[in-house]
Amino acid sequence: MQTEEQKTHYACAGECSGSSDGAPETCGSDACSKKGQKFVECHCADSAHKEVKTS
Ligand SMILES: [Zn+2]
Ligand SMILES: [Zn+2]
Repeated sequence: MQTEEQKTHYACAGECSGSSDGAPETCGSDACSKKGQKFVECHCADSAHKEVKTS
């Protein structure tokens, strides 16, 4: 079975669900516990970013 192509992207490890397809960005959401921290590299295909979420 062929899996969906997983494109490298970057996502916030906090709860703001911020993400970037290009260069890693820094979270700027006031409500997010990871504000000011860089997005983490992720390879998910479903936009859930489970591999970067710590909780
Ligand atoms: Zn965030
Ligand atoms: Zn992801």
